[in-house]
Amino acid sequence: MTAEIISVGTEILMGNIVNTNAAFIAERLSALGISCYYQTVVGDNADRLKDQLKRSLKRSDIVILSGGLGPTEDDLTKETAASVCGYKLVEDVKARQDIAEYFKTRGKEPAENNWKQAMVPEGCTVLYNPNGTAPGIIMQKGDQHVVLLPGPPDELVPMFKKQVEKYLSSLSEDVIVSRTIKLCGVGESSAEEAILDLIDNQTNPTIATYAKIREVHIRVTARAKNIKEAKTILQPTVREIKKRFKDNIFATEEEVTLEASVIDLLKKKNFSLSIAESCTGGLLSARLINVPGASEVYKSGFVVYSNKAKRKLLGLKKKAIDKYGAVSAQTAEEMTKGLAMETKSDVCVSITGIAGPGGGSAEKPVGLVYIACNVKGKITVRQYMFKGTRAKIRESSAAEALILIRECVANR
Ligand code: ATP
Ligand code: MG
Repeated sequence: MTAEIISVGTEILMGNIVNTNAAFIAERLSALGISCYYQTVVGDNADRLKDQLKRSLKRSDIVILSGGLGPTEDDLTKETAASVCGYKLVEDVKARQDIAEYFKTRGKEPAENNWKQAMVPEGCTVLYNPNGTAPGIIMQKGDQHVVLLPGPPDELVPMFKKQVEKYLSSLSEDVIVSRTIKLCGVGESSAEEAILDLIDNQTNPTIATYAKIREVHIRVTARAKNIKEAKTILQPTVREIKKRFKDNIFATEEEVTLEASVIDLLKKKNFSLSIAESCTGGLLSARLINVPGASEVYKSGFVVYSNKAKRKLLGLKKKAIDKYGAVSAQTAEEMTKGLAMETKSDVCVSITGIAGPGGGSAEKPVGLVYIACNVKGKITVRQYMFKGTRAKIRESSAAEALILIRECVANR
């Protein structure tokens, strides 16, 4: 079965927003075993959208459109798609109730044009939207399927996961089951090399690797007549991959993030955690605090950007900073010691580095970062040379700090 994506919106076309919806849908389609051959962006223009949808229907079984389901004049996806597929719009009672309810719970009055969102192609499948006012829609045209989804990602993503995936899976007799194995401390090319024999021989299950910031995800996907059979097909390959990567594996479930695995590990060890960040400016703390239940282990985080802050909050000595420099193994180490004194946490982590673009020298270039991890007095300091923009260097630093915590704590 083949699918394609049409993203509707002039702001995507103009580059004002990044097309994350298409990336999300494409990734989910591939996990469902549906081939996506085309992605198109069309502005808020009925004629060009009509043209594109007709072209898409000549070549794909499933066409997924996102955006333009809102209440305003420039939102014309539903009207255009319904006319191309030969549907007339009728009011959906539940969608109307949902809209009334949505405004009532927010203490607001719907505008007249909000009711336009309760109009749906007659006889279509309505995807009710608990996160907004525009319902999604699935229309059939012969044996083809046209799916309309709201543009805002916080509406589109849950609607796709909860409703569209179920519908798309029901179109095929086969079921698709995937397992994701997440690795850290290994690059994508070496990860791929380590399983090249498995990748080269893949048919069912298939194996794909994805590079994330300082992480590699390996997705193994099996196709079979039922879930049990698919799981049986997956098992030997998953087991073999696990055997090859051992300690580099931090999660074997799609939902588990690196920071969640670190929080989990700290909970298991009953260790508390505090952090002192210079160049990352709170990024590491933010990632950890994103994990529900982080409060059980996370105690405090200091952003000590200036040398003065490092001295005042962590008790570093001016002389030592002057001697070794703010970006040095010694300063990183002193930061974790000061942090331990200050917070009495079991695990104290510090990051200091040069994120650029300025501030580098031949001796200490942009991208040079030191991370120290102090587990109950046992200190590990590591030096890193990251490449890329300021943002990339900061993100890489926070990710490597998580990896270092994992490594130091696991060995205790
Ligand atoms: P609304 O009711 O908000 O108007 P809509 O279904 O009409 O929703 P759009 O107007 O096309 O959707 O987009 C609304 C917002 O959703 C955009 O401003 C943007 O923030 C986000 N958005 C739309 N399309 C995309 C996309 N392809 N990728 C990421 N974000 C998107
Ligand atoms: Mg809109």
